[in-house]
Amino acid sequence: MIPSSAMLLVAAGVLGLIVGSFLNVVAHRLPRDRSIVRPASSCPSCGHRIGALENIPLLSYLALRGRCRGCGATIPPGYPLTELTSAILTALTVWVVGASWTLVPALVFTWMLMVLTRIDLELQLLPDRLTLPLGGLGLLYAGGAAYLPMPPVAPTAAGAPASPLAALLGAALGYGLLFLAGWGYERATGREGMGGGDLKLLGALGAWVGPVAVLLALFLAALMGSLIGGLLILLRGGDRHLAIPFGPFLAAGGWALFLWKDTIIRWYFGLSGSLG
Ligand SMILES: [Zn+2]
Repeated sequence: MIPSSAMLLVAAGVLGLIVGSFLNVVAHRLPRDRSIVRPASSCPSCGHRIGALENIPLLSYLALRGRCRGCGATIPPGYPLTELTSAILTALTVWVVGASWTLVPALVFTWMLMVLTRIDLELQLLPDRLTLPLGGLGLLYAGGAAYLPMPPVAPTAAGAPASPLAALLGAALGYGLLFLAGWGYERATGREGMGGGDLKLLGALGAWVGPVAVLLALFLAALMGSLIGGLLILLRGGDRHLAIPFGPFLAAGGWALFLWKDTIIRWYFGLSGSLG
């Protein structure tokens, strides 16, 4: 690796930390219907206004040893974890997509999925105010790449846009498929299995990755969900009704397909070819 690309990755990591700190604010305020711009952040326990020096991503958390300077209340570890994850995923996205105009939509996609994941883990909720714009942006990305004078992108490139038709099909298939799965599950068990937010998220992912990849995203999400869900049930002792939000798995699956679509599709069909 040449030094300048190492510098670029460090810069991307720092950008990720700063964005991560903003993602925390969005993830906290958006589902509670509060403005994401005002007022300045304050401690939820004592109202202590968080000054600029206490608001440096990651470093402030370490310097304050995870406690509010006003009242000593514990700062939830989700805050520094979001910042750290954002730094890693931002650097990874820059690394994988490289110097291309598609890096901008790729980063927006990554960050929106992070906010959705964070909100779903905390509140078991995927707000329409995020899933619907995410789907809209996916269609816009596909349309922009096709109809605006953008430099062409190889369809196999990391983070390449779907064709407009594939984006529409992907969105419809993503939404429709989970709708059918949820309907079947409800018919079979009489219980509601999947939230409406999951359908909108998978539909939105379909707009970004197209119909074939959205199927694989769902497959990966189900695979990860059963592995991790099974592990949690083992650890917590046999509670089958443990509710684990599915959104984070969908987000992870969709993100992986967006960046490594070609590799995953070839891997999957190679695998099913060798088994069949
Ligand atoms: Zn406080």
